[in-house]
Amino acid sequence: MNAFDTPENAGHGALLTIDLGALAANWRMLRQRAGTEASAVVKANAYGLGIEPAVTALARAGCKTFFVAHLSEAVRARAVAPDATIYVLNGLAPDSGGTFAEHDLSPVLGSHEELLEWAGFRQSGAKVRPAALHVDTAMNRLGLWPGEGLDLAREKTGVIAAAGIGLVMSHFASSEVVDDPANARQIAAFAEIAEAFPGMPASLLNSSGHFLPNCPSYQLTRPGYALYGGNPTPGKPNPMRPVVGLEARIIQLREVQGGMQVGYNGTWTAKGRSKLATICLGYADGYPRNASWTDRSQGGSALVGGVRCPFVGTVSMDLIIVDVSDAPTDAAVRGAPVTLIGGELDLEAVGAGAKTIGYEILTSLGRRHARHYVGL
Ligand SMILES: *Cc1c(COP(=O)(O)O)cnc(C)c1O
Repeated sequence: MNAFDTPENAGHGALLTIDLGALAANWRMLRQRAGTEASAVVKANAYGLGIEPAVTALARAGCKTFFVAHLSEAVRARAVAPDATIYVLNGLAPDSGGTFAEHDLSPVLGSHEELLEWAGFRQSGAKVRPAALHVDTAMNRLGLWPGEGLDLAREKTGVIAAAGIGLVMSHFASSEVVDDPANARQIAAFAEIAEAFPGMPASLLNSSGHFLPNCPSYQLTRPGYALYGGNPTPGKPNPMRPVVGLEARIIQLREVQGGMQVGYNGTWTAKGRSKLATICLGYADGYPRNASWTDRSQGGSALVGGVRCPFVGTVSMDLIIVDVSDAPTDAAVRGAPVTLIGGELDLEAVGAGAKTIGYEILTSLGRRHARHYVGL
């Protein structure tokens, strides 16, 4: 039986299939490629896949360190990974030390204020795991200035010791653009930082960082997107296994004549006689409205019987209309599933059709889909 037809999924318009075996295989592949310890970045509900199943699968594969963005995400990860090291990238919110201690979590400290507050918290007798120190080498977003990081490293008895730092890290701004000169500058800046903290584990690589030439792996990597099947080498073949599939059912079919307008505000006009399918998924399911296909702009598409069929008109809240004129007639029938993510419609293609990136497609994946986890 198709997973769509099981009693618990039958009432849903769309089915999200998540291959936890492929997730684990992707993690192992990246670990092997880097030749060092690999963590997993599971922020934003594991990029939309579900933090509990993702962390469970990755922990079983041998992953011992996880990064999330928020403290609340860390608490969820802790519930399924009792022994793991769990870092909170957004750092120490004011007066949140108690929650870190209660759940045995580690902040990624990115400012003097955070360092001092965490050091004070430890000095008050709190028993906590080591924290990480974030040095900003490009983005001016989170983390200490490189100069501040170097100064702290030199004050041997200072706040670094008091804060119990166990990892120094930085984050790439453009690692998916292999020939961006910013990469070499960041690699050099971080090499200086890492050297200033002798014996301290260091971490630099995000997904695309694994594929940059001349970049050391350090002691811990931090892949996110590539674990979930995203292409860390855009423009080149994807070395990762696909993890996510999305299908939605056809609920109606109709034929329109040339000149007829379709969808809200009549933004698409049939050029000739066309067969249209209305499918059970829309922007309320996280499929971007920017994937609308109008007379003036191209948008997203679906695979119907393996044939790529363009959307027509605006993406509605619960529905999308697809031109299935070129699809095999036995695939374009009421109740049949069409593919929104899968096959040639990989995350990059779907992102491009919606004028965004695959990351946003993943992290927007709807709460209304039936979710089918396989491969564990
Ligand atoms: C999100 C994030 C990552 C993972 O990045 P990907 O491009 O998804 O691999 C790594 N490090 C930090 C600091 C991040 O915020």
